[in-house]
Amino acid sequence: MDGLPARAGAPSNRALAEALFQLAEGEPHGDRKLAFLKAGYRALDATRPASRELLEEAPAWLRPLVSQLVACRGDGALEAAVERLRSGRPSRRRPARARFLSRVEVRETLAGAPEELDPRRLRGAFHWHTDASDGKASLEAMARACLRRGASWAVVTDHSRGLEVASGLDREGVLLQRRRVERWNREHGEEMLLLQGLEVEILEDGTVDVPALEREEIDVVVAAVHRRLDPGPDQTERLLRAVSTPGVRVLAHPRGRLFHHRSGVRARWEKVFAACAEHGVAVEINGFPRRQDLDWELARLAVGTGCLFVLASDAHAPAHLAFDEYACAIASRAGVPPARILNLRQAEVVRDWLDHGTLW
Ligand SMILES: [Zn+2]
Ligand SMILES: [Zn+2]
Repeated sequence: MDGLPARAGAPSNRALAEALFQLAEGEPHGDRKLAFLKAGYRALDATRPASRELLEEAPAWLRPLVSQLVACRGDGALEAAVERLRSGRPSRRRPARARFLSRVEVRETLAGAPEELDPRRLRGAFHWHTDASDGKASLEAMARACLRRGASWAVVTDHSRGLEVASGLDREGVLLQRRRVERWNREHGEEMLLLQGLEVEILEDGTVDVPALEREEIDVVVAAVHRRLDPGPDQTERLLRAVSTPGVRVLAHPRGRLFHHRSGVRARWEKVFAACAEHGVAVEINGFPRRQDLDWELARLAVGTGCLFVLASDAHAPAHLAFDEYACAIASRAGVPPARILNLRQAEVVRDWLDHGTLW
């Protein structure tokens, strides 16, 4: 599937998950559909080969079918079995599940990754939210969690006020947070430098929802799409305008895709990434498991255009900070040169990049 080698023997967790999601699609809304979805997510997120757990945890009515799936010899056989069960009907949502790594694949990838991409070696904890927007913990609790994980710098990136789905920060909220960031740096800056980012919204016309003067007050302006994500019209121009906006330094989760729900915007990515490289905008690899945006193929394309990268957890709670391991795995599969990953650099280097746009 998706160009990854299928293993002989039991099907991979990813193939099992895909099978269960496809079978869920064939069910009307209700308990049966939910049981398939739950088993699919379980396979995706399990830390070990999931066959046995899936069987044990499935409701009695689902067990015969699950045992049929896990008995398939490899991913290809499983795929064929699911096609028969679905009588060849195409899966509408499959594109929204393409090129997502299961947690087992993340672990396997990291086991063979260059040592620089060991998540424990990341110096920078980039892109996380606090209870000032849609996160669960305070700024200080999140910062302490970053420090405990060994970060020497970190960037908080709450949403700007324009985002309708989350309570974003207005100007006053930004200034209040600024004071807390400064207090952190007075007290703990020697151990971990905290930078204030803001995840601003790329509007339909490619402008962002925070004016120029206010952007200047933020250490790291991170631009992202959260609305108008239908894969219909090409949105290259929208993204080009966003990444050439003065003050924007990172393009976050470029497609805005969400596992099983939407495949995100369509664009001529080579052009978008080339513009990022030209304007000194780093491209994010978002490791939030349901985002994984960029995936490894698009990340490889971005490597070819000379972009800088930033690996992100998009944590909304302290435990989510570990999602940067997904970003490391994607970077490894994409062959991102460690020298182009900002999180591997020291705080002073990143600060210098923010000030002058060049990376030593
Ligand atoms: Zn976002
Ligand atoms: Zn975010």
